[in-house]
Order: sequence, then C-alpha cells, then structure tokens
Amino acid sequence: MAFDFDLFVIGAGSGGVRASRFAAGFGARVAVAESRYLGGTCVNVGCVPKKLMVYGAHVAEELEQARGFGWSLDGAQFDWPTLIANKNREIQRLNGIYRNLLVNSGVTLLEGHTRILGPHEVEVDGRRYSAEHILIAVGGWPQVPEIPGRELAITSNEVFHLAQLPRRVLVVGGGYIAVEFASIFNGFGAQTTLLYRGERFLRGFDEAVRCHLEEELGKKGLDLQFNSDIERIERQADGSLCATLRDGRQLEADCVFYATGRRPMLDDLGLENAGVALDARGFIAVDDEYRTSAPSILAIGDVIGRVQLTPVALAEGMAVARRLFRPEEYRPVDYALIPTAVFSLPNIATVGLSEQQAREQGHAVKVFESRFRPMKLTLGDGQERTLMKLVVDADSDRVLGCHMVGPEAGEIVQGLAVALKAGATKALFDETIGIHPTAAEEFVTLR
Ligand code: FAD
Ligand code: NDP
Repeated sequence: MAFDFDLFVIGAGSGGVRASRFAAGFGARVAVAESRYLGGTCVNVGCVPKKLMVYGAHVAEELEQARGFGWSLDGAQFDWPTLIANKNREIQRLNGIYRNLLVNSGVTLLEGHTRILGPHEVEVDGRRYSAEHILIAVGGWPQVPEIPGRELAITSNEVFHLAQLPRRVLVVGGGYIAVEFASIFNGFGAQTTLLYRGERFLRGFDEAVRCHLEEELGKKGLDLQFNSDIERIERQADGSLCATLRDGRQLEADCVFYATGRRPMLDDLGLENAGVALDARGFIAVDDEYRTSAPSILAIGDVIGRVQLTPVALAEGMAVARRLFRPEEYRPVDYALIPTAVFSLPNIATVGLSEQQAREQGHAVKVFESRFRPMKLTLGDGQERTLMKLVVDADSDRVLGCHMVGPEAGEIVQGLAVALKAGATKALFDETIGIHPTAAEEFVTLR
C-alpha cells in the first residue's frame, strides 16, 4: 500500500520536532501536525519563558549585591508588562526558528488538531492522511485537583500571560514548577506563599538539598507552608480570592497558582481507533523502542510519562528517527544518570543518587559536603549559602551522586554528569585541579 508519508508526527514540541527533522534528514517523507504552538511546551509555556523569568527575578538580588560593589541604584523600577512583551517577542522569534528548521529539513508542516483514525490514518482538522508509522508526541497538560473554585486558579499555561504581577500569590504544589514559580514571584516582590501537602517539598531530591533550599527560600521571605492543602477557593466581593485550607485556615490572595503535576494530553486523540493502550498511570504504554500496543504507532516524550524533561524527549525523538530510518545508527536512550536542575533562587542541580537512594540500594555510603557563602556576596550583606554534596560508594570509591544548591548549579552539574557517566571515582575528583576562584572548584576539594 502507498502511504502519503513514511512518518506522521502528532505534536511539534521538543520530541516531535526532533524526530521529524532527523527522520526527514534520513530521507523519510515526514509530516508533523501541531494544534497550538511550534516548539511545544518547552518553548511556549515551559523551560524557555520560565528561565527568562527566573533571570528577571534574580536581577532584584543582583541589584542588592551591586551596592556592595559601590553601585548606587536608587529608584530602580520593575515593570511586569515590559517583561511579558519582551518575552513574547523572543518566543515568537523561536517559533519562527522552529518553522524554518522543519521546512528547511523538508518536513511537511500541518496546523490543526490531529486525531488518529486507524493504525495508519490520521485526520488534521477534517483532512485525512495516511502514514506507514505514526508518532504520538503530544506532551502533557497541567492537572488541577477537583476542588470547588478550581476554575479561579491559574496554571503554568496562564502564568506567562498575566497582565500584571499579582500582589499576593498562593503557589500550590511541591515539585519543580511550584518551587520555580514561588521563587519567581517572590523575586519580583509579590507576597508569596507556597503550600505543599507533604512534610517537605521536592520529594525524591536529596534530603540535604531539600532542607537547604527550605532555609534559603525562608531567608528570602518566601512563606513556606508544608502539610497544607487548599479545600476550596472563593472570589470575594473586592475581586480578590480566598482559599480555605483543609485545617480551616483562610488565606487571601490575588492569584492562586496550581503546579500539581501534568497529565498526558490525550483529549480527542482517537487512541481507541487504533487500539493504543495506556499504562496503569494513564500514560501511553510503550516498549523499550517506543512502540505502543498498535505496531505502527509509536510514542515519546511527556505523553509516555517516563522522565518529563526536554532533553529526554529530544533523545527519544532521535532514537525513534534512527530506529525507523537509520537502524545501523540506532542506540537506545540511556536513562541512567540524567542530570536535572530546578531553577529556584538559588538553583538546585543534581545528577545520580541521593544519599537516601544510595543507602536504599545497599551501598556503603560516604558523604562529602560543604556549605559556604559565595564570594560574590562577601562585599554586600547577602546571607545566601551554597551547598555542595557528593555521595560516594565506600567500597568502589565511585561517585554515585552530585548535588548542589547555589548560583549556576545547572551550569556546574552538567559537566559533572559527564564525569559520573564515565564512572569517575572520588580519587579522580580529588586529583582534578580546581579552577580558582570559582564555586565549582569546591567539588574537587571536598575532603
Ligand atoms: P510538548 O513539548 O508538550 O509538545 C507537544 C506538542 O503537541 C504541543 O505543541 C501540543 O500543542 C501538541 N499537540 C497536543 N495534542 C495535539 C493534537 N491532538 N494534535 C496536534 N498537536 C497536538 N524541562 C526541562 O528539561 N527543563 C526545564 O527547565 C523545564 N521547565 C518546564 C517549565 C514548565 C512550566 C513546564 C510546564 C515544563 C517544563 N519542562 C522543562 C518540561 C518540558 O517542557 C517537557 O518535558 C517537554 O516539553 C516535553 O516535550 P514533548 O515533545 O513530549 O511535548
Ligand atoms: P511534579 O510532578 O514535579 O510535582 C507535582 C507536585 O504537586 C508534587 O509536589 C505533588 O506532591 C503535588 N501534587 C500532586 N497532586 C496533588 C494534589 N492533588 N493536591 C496537592 N498537591 C498535589 O510536577 P510539576 O507540575 O511541578 O512539573 C511537571 C514536570 O515538568 C516535572 O516533574 C518535571 O519533569 C518537568 N519540569 C521540569 C523543570 C526543570 O527541568 N527545571 C521545570 C518544570 C517542570 P507529592 O510530591 O506529594 O506527590
């Protein structure tokens, strides 16, 4: 049977764009359909605008630090609409770059909501196309618990388009997005409360990292309320919001921001038409080579719910393109030692095992830890402290985990991830000469 395309990709986000471009580069006839925005979550309502806002919020601290270096900056003003307008311009530029990348790679770009009609057939806004392989790369969507008044809350989809900086914000959740946006709002001067249902936020991260960040955020005036959750939200006569907590307390705010995880974006996707099965958590079930239960249909990225990070979606997209059209170059994605950062202020970055995970896995663990005041803060009255921690296997001397809370943690830990991938021992860290004076050198001088 002759198909319209060799590969039809649904969703032009991180994973879909990568798979499309590389498949087309390998000579395949490829179409990608996108219903909302080129570049997907990461470019439009995720990593990129978020990081720009983190930079913006950090300027407040840099202005304070500047005084210590003799600068006088009285009268500095922040204007939220200017930030949003400039951010929007940059995102539009990136959307254009993604369009050019796809078109220049020979990919057919279709705009519109896409439904699967059968194992080899899809429909884009009423027009039908056939393909030998279909790749589902539709990403995820914020999920908000079913509480009365949930429609009054915003999520990461809306936060990037707020017309004004809210004066008082309640952030709900204890994962990446909650912690990052609590830092952003707090940095820009909003009165910010973070409500998390558990004992302490960032479940799964090293305990020292979680405690250190809790202390640092507290010092910056962020109101952290753990073991707290909202029961209902109501609009008050003056237009502000009132959140009633499960313990009966009431908190007033101008904005309630939910960051309580993301579900796979399966709305009206037509999975049932091709027999694509879900796993127990409701994500699309795939095998090691991203095949769904329908042999001609594959899935990658957030919609399979493995590791919801852009570089992972990119790697999966690449792996699919190679497996289908350049099998001799196919390499499975290695999910071990994925480095990650939380762009809170200060940043967290980590690669490998936490101390708790290492012990649970039966390692005899040695821990090396340092806390210090970054040199940049010594001339002002900045109270922030950096944390660096190595988790080492006492028997083999292998470094199992690197953890940092402090400025540019992501920039530092990215390099260390290569060392861990290469199987570096603590002795090798110790033999490595530091770059002085940096914060990063602390990782090779921990004794
Ligand atoms: P997406 O990028 O979500 O792309 C899916 C695309 O499919 C979308 O464009 C969507 O419109 C389209 N689509 C959906 N359904 C259909 C349909 N039926 N028809 C046609 N098109 C459809 N990750 C990091 O690594 N670092 C970060 O700093 C980071 N920050 C983040 C901050 C926020 C606020 C959020 C929400 C996420 C962040 N992430 C970050 C996660 C990252 O954005 C995702 O892991 C990544 O975008 C997943 O890529 P994907 O290709 O699976 O899906
Ligand atoms: P996460 O899964 O990281 O965190 C969700 C948080 O919401 C958890 O603290 C969870 O609590 C809490 N929660 C879940 N359900 C409820 C509920 N019903 N009521 C109250 N609290 C609830 O999700 P995010 O939304 O923060 O981010 C989604 C993903 O996007 C991340 O996991 C990450 O993979 C990616 N991302 C990556 C970033 C980066 O690389 N810097 C930045 C932003 C997002 P509990 O722990 O108790 O389950």
